[in-house]
Amino acid sequence: MTPTNESKYYPPLTDGFGRRHTSLRISVTDRCNIRCFYCMPEENVRFRPREELLTFEEVEQVAAVMLRLGVTKFRLTGGEPLVRANLPNLVQRLASLPGLTDLALTTNGILLADQAPALKAAGLRRLNISLDALDAEAFRRIARRDGLEQVLEGIETARQLGFEKIRLNAVAIRGITEVQLLPLARFARERDLELRFIEFMPLDAESRWDNSQVMSGVEIRQCLEAEFGPLIPAPRPDPSQPATDFLFHDGRGRIGLIHPVTQPFCGDCNRLRITAEGKLRNCLFSTAEWDLRELLRAGTRENVVHGSVHRFAAASSAGIADSEQEAAMIARIRQCVAAKKPGHGIDTPEFIRPERAMYQIGG
Ligand code: SAM
Ligand code: SF4
Repeated sequence: MTPTNESKYYPPLTDGFGRRHTSLRISVTDRCNIRCFYCMPEENVRFRPREELLTFEEVEQVAAVMLRLGVTKFRLTGGEPLVRANLPNLVQRLASLPGLTDLALTTNGILLADQAPALKAAGLRRLNISLDALDAEAFRRIARRDGLEQVLEGIETARQLGFEKIRLNAVAIRGITEVQLLPLARFARERDLELRFIEFMPLDAESRWDNSQVMSGVEIRQCLEAEFGPLIPAPRPDPSQPATDFLFHDGRGRIGLIHPVTQPFCGDCNRLRITAEGKLRNCLFSTAEWDLRELLRAGTRENVVHGSVHRFAAASSAGIADSEQEAAMIARIRQCVAAKKPGHGIDTPEFIRPERAMYQIGG
């Protein structure tokens, strides 16, 4: 990754509440190889046709423009990003863009043992691996598919490869997490992996979310402290990080609690999201979207695939600011940022669930 060249940069993406946006979650697919109940429907999922998804060239173009607008961090997600063919190729493209300081991936880990070497070689530095349960039956109840063994193998392979950081993510769900909490914490501590618990959010495709299923960050902390002793609040170098971090008092391991439902952290949010088919969103819970694919494909399909997209990409990375297409993209990105609300409002009577479920947005 090359250092930032300020002279090529546009004014930053600051919204009406003074929040500067420096982080982009890039969804590369809505497909997945499991069916977590808090995210996807169990059967008969209607995925986007392949031609609707942004090509890697298109993702690279969006990324290049975002970097010049002061975004410095990308996270690849989905759906399950590892089911997208040739993902290391995209990683390599993004990792070499000027201005990028952090490139990470969130995965369910099922295909990780196979793909981790190529991803690391392509320039991926950080991994979040989802792991809600260490018990095969509980895993199956959540994921509605088998796969725990593959996930554990994926975690082990990633550890052996020496990624800069590997973090485990668990969705905290009442009735499931209580018994998984301590085994997950022990598993993470024994391997020196950071473990984060995320409160269950109303983004499940089957719309069955209910507040009573949310196991709060406070409850999780209490359970952990009853077993391991007091958790020590960790320094918070990045105020926009979604997690409140704690250290175990014996110095072994780190726990993060992400509590979007019970203690929203919208005031420090610096994140934008782009869906696999190129819709920009200013919030997980946004009900509006800004179409970047339409601008990327403004020419004919043939031109987009074989010509103009490549020309545009070259202009972006060369720092040429006079592309009409780039100007249109920047204007649309700014509209999206300007429209960002102060908070998601889950806890208010006016809250409206987005039409999309988590797998269609990119978590
Ligand atoms: N498939 C990959 C995975 O599961 O890690 C990446 C995409 S997934 C949508 C990203 C993260 O969102 C995962 O850690 C998942 O557990 C979390 N997630 C999905 N639905 C959620 C929900 N309704 N509430 C809270 N977290 C959720
Ligand atoms: Fe797939 Fe990730 Fe959604 Fe689970 S959370 S269904 S692994 S996209």
